[in-house]
Amino acid sequence: MIFTDFNFDERLLDGLNSMGYKSPTPIQAQAIPLIQSNHDLIACAQTGTGKTASYLLPVMDGICKLAKKPPISALVLAPTRELALQIDQQIEGLAYFTGISSIAIYGGGNGIDYEQQRRSLREGVDIVIATPGRLIAHLNSGGVLFNDIKFLVLDEADRMLDMGFQEDLLHIIRKLPAQRQTLLFSATMPSKIRQFAQKLLKNPQQVNI
Ligand code: AMP
Repeated sequence: MIFTDFNFDERLLDGLNSMGYKSPTPIQAQAIPLIQSNHDLIACAQTGTGKTASYLLPVMDGICKLAKKPPISALVLAPTRELALQIDQQIEGLAYFTGISSIAIYGGGNGIDYEQQRRSLREGVDIVIATPGRLIAHLNSGGVLFNDIKFLVLDEADRMLDMGFQEDLLHIIRKLPAQRQTLLFSATMPSKIRQFAQKLLKNPQQVNI
């Protein structure tokens, strides 16, 4: 299988070339067509398998193909600022030729300051990658434009639950439109993840790597 099999937007194929990705990894080969056919997805995949691009590529391609882009098209929730930054860096590389914008929203020092995060969330940015705690702070202060998001991704969902983020996640997700595509990635699939997924996903397809 090669990347041109997915009918991606040409600008995204240019990004893949510039990043040196030649062919899809197994998780990408399985997950991308399911996401492109609008299914919710529960994917069991470890770091290092190419799991990040397995959701970023179809999400970015979906954004390229939207007739009218909402203020924010996709929300990716991740357990730590390190992971949020890595995801944002992959978007910057892959989306280089597409004009897709992104921001990583996380707490603590060294990051873009709170006011700048707040401005982006109010003005609109195509993909928001956020840690749950910091995003809640922004949601509570109002003006975040999540009404029309098309994609919600939970990355390393098992780690987010282990870190005690379940209530924060449910609080965030209650503010999102019911009409959306939800993609849940987890390195492990204990029953608490399955139960959690059951609350959030509609008739999900499953992928195991
Ligand atoms: P991940 O499992 O998402 O953490 O990805 C692991 C590493 O593989 C990252 O550095 C990606 O940039 C890289 N990667 C992802 N997909 C591909 C691919 N199809 N070909 C080559 N490298 C890839």
